[in-house]
Amino acid sequence: MPFYVENALGSSLENPTPAELREFLDALDPNDEEHGAAWLNDEHDNSLEYSVDGTLVFSRGDAPSRHLPGVSKERVVELWLALARGSLEMLEAEPWRPGVRSESQLARWRKESDELQHRLDREYYDSLGAERPEKPCQHAGCSRGSVAQSVLCRIHHFESLQGRPCPFSD
Ligand SMILES: [Zn+2]
Repeated sequence: MPFYVENALGSSLENPTPAELREFLDALDPNDEEHGAAWLNDEHDNSLEYSVDGTLVFSRGDAPSRHLPGVSKERVVELWLALARGSLEMLEAEPWRPGVRSESQLARWRKESDELQHRLDREYYDSLGAERPEKPCQHAGCSRGSVAQSVLCRIHHFESLQGRPCPFSD
């Protein structure tokens, strides 16, 4: 049965040996969670995706994905080969949990993503420059000055462009 593995950096191997699978896993950068993933697909749309955080995600056709946390690379190779052989009953025997990640991992990701957004927002807000008191913001009831590129103050310019409340008030 043909199968292949791929990683998030775009490399792939067709019908790899167990040693090649292990090398493929070892080549992942443990500090690169964004690209640190590799997966094996079979011809029936089943896949097992491993991430460097130790999570293995099992997607079987259109069924909702399940995951195993804290999987060793040895085990990943074994389970990959099971999928490649079509031994789905061996895979089903694993204690899969619903979803692609645990709640704590999802919460950590959300926090990181919020922090990144906040940093980008701050950079954008600062890039608007100083407000000009002699050219008042045109937003009804606003007593701030407008910025150089706009008839609005920093806050109202931010909100009109981003379409959401401005997190800053300085
Ligand atoms: Zn304003």
